[in-house]
Amino acid sequence: MAPDEITREFDEYLAVEERSILERAREFSRRVVAPQAAEWDRQRCHPTGALREACREGLAGIELSPQWGGSGLRYSAKMRVVEEMAKDDFGFPFSLVNHHNALVRASNAGDAVARRLVPPMLCGELIGCAAYTEPGHGSDLSRLATTALRAEGGWRLNGAKAWITNAAVADVMLTLAQTDPAAGARGIAAFVVESSQPGFEREPAFALQGSHAIGAGGFRLRDCFVPDEAVLDPPGEAFRRSLQGINGARCYVAAMCAGMLESAIAVAVRYASERRAFGRPIVEFQGLRWSLVDAANDLAALRLLCYRAARLIDAGQDAEEAAAAAKKFAGDKTLQHLAACVQALGANGLRPDYPLMRHLVACKTACFTDGTTEMMNERLGKLLVRRLGGA
Ligand SMILES: Cc1cc2nc3c(=O)[nH]c(=O)nc-3n(C[C@H](O)[C@H](O)[C@H](O)COP(=O)(O)OP(=O)(O)OC[C@H]3O[C@@H](n4cnc5c(N)ncnc54)[C@H](O)[C@@H]3O)c2cc1C
Repeated sequence: MAPDEITREFDEYLAVEERSILERAREFSRRVVAPQAAEWDRQRCHPTGALREACREGLAGIELSPQWGGSGLRYSAKMRVVEEMAKDDFGFPFSLVNHHNALVRASNAGDAVARRLVPPMLCGELIGCAAYTEPGHGSDLSRLATTALRAEGGWRLNGAKAWITNAAVADVMLTLAQTDPAAGARGIAAFVVESSQPGFEREPAFALQGSHAIGAGGFRLRDCFVPDEAVLDPPGEAFRRSLQGINGARCYVAAMCAGMLESAIAVAVRYASERRAFGRPIVEFQGLRWSLVDAANDLAALRLLCYRAARLIDAGQDAEEAAAAAKKFAGDKTLQHLAACVQALGANGLRPDYPLMRHLVACKTACFTDGTTEMMNERLGKLLVRRLGGA
């Protein structure tokens, strides 16, 4: 089955409103993201204006409850939206989906905090992020070093966060901090920190090789006071709740890799059909053609993995293994096949006029976000041994 047929079949599973938001996202991406994505990278800037515009199109509230003005749609709708947009650029929808997720989590904060933050986040006036990673701790999240000490009416936070999507511009930071180092993961709590608070210091945006639309950055908290009403998850709950969303994130990152690979294969096939060498179109050279067939075949397999994980998430079933398998496969295969697509264009593949190198760098980024490929192996290895180890 061809990769695009697999997607068409999956889209039939979506409800009418879900297909409609997907169509809106596609139109937005072709109109706003595709023409500007290369320039955002060249200028190394976060496209905050375009992000706010996407919010006004309703793309920040896909899963948000209608009670808060959102669309209340299923996970699969969000995944398909970012997969579709990633055909044009990975960074922009990654920034958007991180803001979307921060917004949905903020709607679960205490009433006063949610009422104050959700409406401006929904229309993009305020931008959100989820800050777990620190300069000294990434994969091993349970050892985070940011501390939260009890104070009159709230908590005082001290520490630093790094590699946070949207941190270059964000106003609302959902931040994990340790309240009791002796308790390990059970001591971790989640707080809503706002950039306007005393003690919040933003770091300059990180200089990357690409994907600047992600707005990756960091911040420091120096005796930053957070009132009790801004505790999002108390100690004992925060670590578990933060990991709850991780399967969804792994699955949509994998689907975004599928989006990039589809667009790269289309560019490579078109180019190789027109470009001639040794008296014929280069696509007639079997080695080159087979490399594109391998890419299309693995794209089909990647989509099946992603869409299966998405259906499990929609149904509220355990998607841990399915999501990790999709993300591992995406990391391993997309990187290899995007490089083959660049190769098919010869030196022209390096030019920013084509999205291929942008996708290739973004794909390497995807191998880190929401758990590295090695962490996927660790997770899958544990599940494999649990199932078949016999002990
Ligand atoms: C563009 C971008 C956006 C990001 N956005 C966010 C965000 O919004 N919020 C957030 O909290 N974080 C974010 N991250 C951080 C991301 O989650 C971390 O990069 C990731 O968890 C890995 O942590 P690390 O980079 O510190 O690597 P480390 O944990 O230091 O690992 C370094 C290397 O060692 C390997 N390794 C570590 N432990 C093991 C092991 N047990 N077995 C085998 N290998 C191992 C890792 O796989 C990796 O290859 C983002 C990262 C990037 C690049």
